[in-house]
Amino acid sequence: MSKNYFKEYPNVDGFFNEYGGAFIPPHLETEMAKINEAYYSISKSHKFIIELRNIRKHYQGRPTPVYHCNRLSNKYGGQIYLKREDLNHTGAHKLNHCMGEALLAKYMGKKKLIAETGAGQHGVALATAAAYFGLECEIHMGEVDMVKEHPNVQRMKILGANVIPVGHGLKTLKEAVDSAFEAYLKDPITAIYCIGSVVGPHPFPMMVRDFQRVVGIEAKDQFLEMTGELPDNIIACIGGGSNAMGLFSAFLEHEECRLFGIEPAGKSFKTGEHAATMTLGKPGMIHGFKCYTLQDEEGNPAPVHSIASGLDYPGVGPEHSMLKDLNKVTYDSITDQECIDSFFELSRLEGIIPALESAHAVAYALKLAQKNPKQSILVNLSGRGDKDLDYVIDTFGLPE
Ligand SMILES: *Cc1c(COP(=O)(O)O)cnc(C)c1O
Repeated sequence: MSKNYFKEYPNVDGFFNEYGGAFIPPHLETEMAKINEAYYSISKSHKFIIELRNIRKHYQGRPTPVYHCNRLSNKYGGQIYLKREDLNHTGAHKLNHCMGEALLAKYMGKKKLIAETGAGQHGVALATAAAYFGLECEIHMGEVDMVKEHPNVQRMKILGANVIPVGHGLKTLKEAVDSAFEAYLKDPITAIYCIGSVVGPHPFPMMVRDFQRVVGIEAKDQFLEMTGELPDNIIACIGGGSNAMGLFSAFLEHEECRLFGIEPAGKSFKTGEHAATMTLGKPGMIHGFKCYTLQDEEGNPAPVHSIASGLDYPGVGPEHSMLKDLNKVTYDSITDQECIDSFFELSRLEGIIPALESAHAVAYALKLAQKNPKQSILVNLSGRGDKDLDYVIDTFGLPE
């Protein structure tokens, strides 16, 4: 990829080749154009960059370390390294783009952040950012998800966010997205919509990627310093694809580094039992942009499943869709069972309990290490597993 990759993609209309764009109603188009303009003028300013750097260092605790997994590498082969986003404040990578989005909101004079959340991870990260900047925060969440993810609902409330229960339809993520958008459209002057991954209409996939690039920039320096080389293989899990874009972005120009994006194969490849969007989907439209999607016969988003609720989305970032077609990244999948096995392996061999999302990337690393015992592997450990403990123990029990 050329040195100018980040200036070339997306193009001015928000396209990554045929993917992305903004297929939205005209009044929303005006708001997106304003956010886009503000993003270019504000986020590239010296003052903004300095302030975001300070936040990352003193509030988030960045840089997060790169860690060599000694016992895991001895058992599986290869040299396995983790980029420890689980040690980022709030325990996952999502705060990287939430702090960026909230800082932009502050510079734009906004008073309120609005978003939807599925499992509650994005809601908690955004509520944290809102508390930091003294902004109001409104999080829309399906009633079914609110019961399932009760601790995250409590966290958001403690952080001062207003959690709006969504009680129509299936009462999960899709309805929450509609509800949050509706609320935003009623109040686009004082509020700003903050998306949770590299998805949605332009400029969000670009903004979120750029705010996540810090992960790759740090990791490349750290890996070079530790080993004197670049990693042979780089692995990240893919829901919408923000943690993966953050890490991959620093290595796209290095043809010798192989990149792997790992989707959830769930229980099986039957419709409704997985969320392997790029493995099994086809190009289509979802939530105002074009990307690979899983669809039913009528072209509506198909039902999806993953043991990791942060990965069960029937679309994917437009940039990943392009990178797949260009063969720059290999997209593959990991089953629920493989995910659980690696969840316990990492916990017991390294003393690190991964988020179930991140455990998909770890599981793939273990397979790859066995196949290529002489190679190095850098995995993005996107988050910690504390949120998943009850679910894992209740559903799977402890291994021997
Ligand atoms: C939300 C989440 C993900 C998935 O989001 P991406 O945008 O694909 O990165 C992955 N890991 C963790 C820990 C998450 O909370």
